[in-house]
Amino acid sequence: MSVVKRTSSNVLLDTALKNFYAAAEEMGLEDGLIEILSHSERRTAVSIPVEMDDGTVKVFDGYRVMHNTSIGPAKGGVRFHPEVCLDECEALGMMMTWKCSLAGIPYGGGKGGVCCEPLELSRKEKERICRTWAARMEPVVGAMTDVPAPDVNTGGPEMVWFMDTISKMRNRLEPAIFTGKPIPLWGSKGRTAATGYGVATCAIELLKNLNFDLAKATVAIQGFGNVGTYAALNMIQAGSKVVAISDITGTYYAKDGLDVKKAFDHVTNHPKHLLEGFTCPGCQKLDLPEVLYVDCTVLIPAALEGVINGKNADKVKAKYIVEAANGPVTPEGDAILDAKGILVVPDFLANSGGVIGSYFEWCQDLGGFFWTEEEYNERLVRIMRDNFQRVWAYSKDKNIKMRRAAFMAAIQRVADAARMRGIFL
Ligand code: GLU
Repeated sequence: MSVVKRTSSNVLLDTALKNFYAAAEEMGLEDGLIEILSHSERRTAVSIPVEMDDGTVKVFDGYRVMHNTSIGPAKGGVRFHPEVCLDECEALGMMMTWKCSLAGIPYGGGKGGVCCEPLELSRKEKERICRTWAARMEPVVGAMTDVPAPDVNTGGPEMVWFMDTISKMRNRLEPAIFTGKPIPLWGSKGRTAATGYGVATCAIELLKNLNFDLAKATVAIQGFGNVGTYAALNMIQAGSKVVAISDITGTYYAKDGLDVKKAFDHVTNHPKHLLEGFTCPGCQKLDLPEVLYVDCTVLIPAALEGVINGKNADKVKAKYIVEAANGPVTPEGDAILDAKGILVVPDFLANSGGVIGSYFEWCQDLGGFFWTEEEYNERLVRIMRDNFQRVWAYSKDKNIKMRRAAFMAAIQRVADAARMRGIFL
């Protein structure tokens, strides 16, 4: 490879680039494609002036990055978080390109966000942020252009405000531009649980491949939001024990297993959807980071990126890690886990249930014909299982880690599409 490699001071973007270059080099990808795929097609930054409830005006920064659309429209979420920036969106958009490619769905990758602290915003303030984000992004989103979805701290209400704003600006209903909408507003039955369900499906397939008795498996889950909750519920349903869960209020641990349904009800009814005040038989509260160091079979980091890194990876006691968040393990962390013999199922395979579910919703919206939840879940599990087994077999065949195998398969499909379409614009 003779390209000048891009680097970034943003850890996530630097990691995304490093992972890409390493896989591209191993595949022998041509330099021209390495150049193209290491850059994004479009990076949009907007300011979002908002009148706050107290009458003052605040300006937030909003972003949308379209990484690559060789296979199809860009697809990926919009997150609300104080650390959101353009480089982070680019990294996450790049990951979405590989995720959609690996999943075998007709999309490229994109990501967006707003730099804000959602815990400090009222519902009305969030609505105003969403509507202005959508209005300023109107030229770059579209059902066949770029299709945003929920991500960290966003969900159904945000998607409705986005969709309603664009629909009013265009004077026609535009349901297929945003996925993750509530069921009465062109959403899909099954979408809310899809990411967590897909994560659990990967964990179950992994344990089955290793002949590990599901009833003997113990699970620790970092993050008890939309992904962590449904991953936990599905692991319980498969017969495993969830011994630790966590959110920003701390780690909740019970050696013989937590009452996950009670925890789910607790966060559903909590005004900020937190575990604060949760307890059940045998439950003890530990410090926040402890969830990562629990002795268990499977650790599912379902919060934010970079949580397992060069500084703490040696403390991880789990046998396997199934990455539910995007980028929870840094390359330094990965090397330590590898040396310890801890197998990692990579994020863009494990958490692809969300975007696969979004694809189902988009198909239903474009066709105006809706499926039952059973149809939705049956298709989701089938695709997740097939994809998991394909990556597993490839990694065994080539004797490489699952992350590298997933990268190579994903890059291959994008490269084939890009070569077929040629270079224009
Ligand atoms: N935010 C989710 C992800 O990172 C879902 C994206 C989507 O459905 O487009 O995969």
